[in-house]
Amino acid sequence: MRRAVCPGSFDPVTNGHLDIVERASRLFDEVIIGVLINHSKTGLFTIEERLEMLSEATAAYTNVRVAAFHGLLVDFCRAQGAAVVIKGLRAVSDFDYELQMAQMNIGLSGVETLFMPTNPLYSFLSSSLVKDVVKWGGDASAYVPDFVGERLAARLKQN
Ligand code: ADP
Repeated sequence: MRRAVCPGSFDPVTNGHLDIVERASRLFDEVIIGVLINHSKTGLFTIEERLEMLSEATAAYTNVRVAAFHGLLVDFCRAQGAAVVIKGLRAVSDFDYELQMAQMNIGLSGVETLFMPTNPLYSFLSSSLVKDVVKWGGDASAYVPDFVGERLAARLKQN
């Protein structure tokens, strides 16, 4: 079975992430969305909340599942039986760092990284930008699923 991992923070999931996941799900037998547990960075949403939102947002894709991981991405890939990592590239500015990581990962373990160009509709989109927009009352409905927008607004109101 050909499996790919889409890793990231997903705090929270955006339509840019979902576009990459959907396209990857058409190329691989199974796609695992790996949510990175980063102990040195507190997110707006807990890992459980991010997993829950990702599961809901990808419920229509039968070959996509979600899991959390910490430590090395290549170890997570090995544990999941995935030989490929898929990364979305928004702009050349993403490329420098992504290339370094891809080269390190292939050196460490032979796991390949495939870069997928972002859908131009979402090339400027990031979770942080969406958080800023919603925080100041902007309309983010084109950028996140409706239920994510509602959860964002509710969480940011509490903060
Ligand atoms: P961010 O916090 O910047 O949204 P994540 O760490 O959650 O980023 O991103 C996980 C993966 O999704 C990365 O490979 C990233 O390049 C990709 N990604 C994030 N936003 C987009 C987008 N708008 N279009 C395509 N890929 C994206």
